[in-house]
Amino acid sequence: MTVVTCPTCAKKVEWIEANKFRPFCSERCKQIDLGAWAEEKYTIPGAAPSDPLLDDDNLPQ
Ligand SMILES: [Zn+2]
Repeated sequence: MTVVTCPTCAKKVEWIEANKFRPFCSERCKQIDLGAWAEEKYTIPGAAPSDPLLDDDNLPQ
């Protein structure tokens, strides 16, 4: 059996078909992780230099 670690709380999670939240241990941990990603994306503009909307030529002077 494959066991992975929950990215949110580091709890051991059995990688089984019945666990629809894998690799997370629960829906709560999944939501927390997704929320963290979204929050980071919005609070740190410019952190992703590959984003065409954040090209240096568009910076206000
Ligand atoms: Zn967890």
